[in-house]
Amino acid sequence: MTTRQHYEIVVVGGGLTGVMMAIALSYGGYGTADMPAIALIDRAKQEGTKTGNSDLRTTTIHAAGKAMFEALGIWQYLEKCAAPIACIKIANGLPTKGGLARRRRPEFSLDWHDVNQPMAYVVGNEQLLEALYRVMKTRPITPIYDAEVSHFDGAGDLARLQFADRPDLTAQLVVACDGAASKLRDHAGIRTLAEAHRQSAIVANVTLEIDHNDTAYQRFLPSGPLALMPHGPHRASLVWTLPKEEADRILAVDETEFSNLLLAAFGDTLGGLKLDSRRLIWPLKPTITRQMTSNHLVLAGDASHAIHPLAGQGYNLALGDAAVLADCLARARARGLSAGHRSVESDYLAGRKLEVTAMTAMTSGLNRLMSFQPAIAKAAGAGMGLVNTSPVKTLFQKSAMGGHLA
Ligand SMILES: Cc1cc2nc3c(=O)[nH]c(=O)nc-3n(C[C@H](O)[C@H](O)[C@H](O)COP(=O)(O)OP(=O)(O)OC[C@H]3O[C@@H](n4cnc5c(N)ncnc54)[C@H](O)[C@@H]3O)c2cc1C
Repeated sequence: MTTRQHYEIVVVGGGLTGVMMAIALSYGGYGTADMPAIALIDRAKQEGTKTGNSDLRTTTIHAAGKAMFEALGIWQYLEKCAAPIACIKIANGLPTKGGLARRRRPEFSLDWHDVNQPMAYVVGNEQLLEALYRVMKTRPITPIYDAEVSHFDGAGDLARLQFADRPDLTAQLVVACDGAASKLRDHAGIRTLAEAHRQSAIVANVTLEIDHNDTAYQRFLPSGPLALMPHGPHRASLVWTLPKEEADRILAVDETEFSNLLLAAFGDTLGGLKLDSRRLIWPLKPTITRQMTSNHLVLAGDASHAIHPLAGQGYNLALGDAAVLADCLARARARGLSAGHRSVESDYLAGRKLEVTAMTAMTSGLNRLMSFQPAIAKAAGAGMGLVNTSPVKTLFQKSAMGGHLA
């Protein structure tokens, strides 16, 4: 166990955001290999351990995110397992069947104009976390595991973190990457706006009779959005949003029945669909914070913005958080200011507020309209009229291009 009690920067949370954040900040010239100035804290007993259940989810990393990962030395460990996306096909409503003259739902496509590189990549969360931890070990970062933060106090000249069974730590700046239920955010008195838990997402892998041909599919069904993301040849990663009671019911049916229900919802574009993994369920409760900073504290990742997974933007926002904070700290350092200087917090807020607020509003608004008010959506010409025009097209184009990072 490290005996040091002060670091320039402490990142709390060893999930996808926290580890990537610590790596990004470590390029800012803080500390040395012998005397790291950045610590990463997680309550898990060892690196990357979560609940014991493997995380079947995948993350879509857009082209700009990939460029960031290349610069941070992370991409080399992902490129072999990353599934490219060259096209996104988006459709609205249930599939229509018409015997021999089968009609398909109208859909629109976003094709990538840059022939040299796909618009985005899909990587498994487990592979991603493993790659991040591998790179973190090569950076001047002190990992501290089995350390659950029980209290945060930012009122003094330094931030103070308290734990149940280890000495306090102080820092100039604490970066809270402790997830959607962030305790640090609560201790700092930052309030949140959380939507009620009305939907859950079923996550699983499925095999496809017809190959996806590097295409991601997004269906806006009356029950909620359904996405199939390429995840290897003839294989896709499913994120199926449903009203929570229906999700519980569908989770409990046997595998054959599940595959049949999925086919009925998605349609036959990819031929037969077969469940190829366990099924996991995630409660969806989009949450946004009223503030992204407080004294000696900045929030990042789900601690700052837990958005609806449609459009696969949650982690991409976290990449933007890390890129902006790294810039803010570099500017402060160039002016001879510490990481805890107020200008870092205000610069960070200025750099993140617009994109995070816009993305949260767009994903939640679109989900609400298509899932809970389909009649209004239809009356407003939602069919492909709505999804084929702004702001929906903008949202998916932004997903492809990389938001703040592009
Ligand atoms: C179904 C689903 C599909 C998704 N698909 C995509 C996608 O395709 N693309 C995309 O960009 N995003 C996607 N997302 C969003 C993305 O998965 C999340 O944004 C991301 O995983 C959040 O990571 P995080 O590190 O911020 O939080 P978390 O994963 O919650 O990590 C928080 C960490 O903090 C630690 N911690 C918590 N409290 C304390 C404490 N008090 N002391 C010490 N440690 C603590 C925890 O142990 C944990 O390691 C999806 C989300 C869902 C639910």
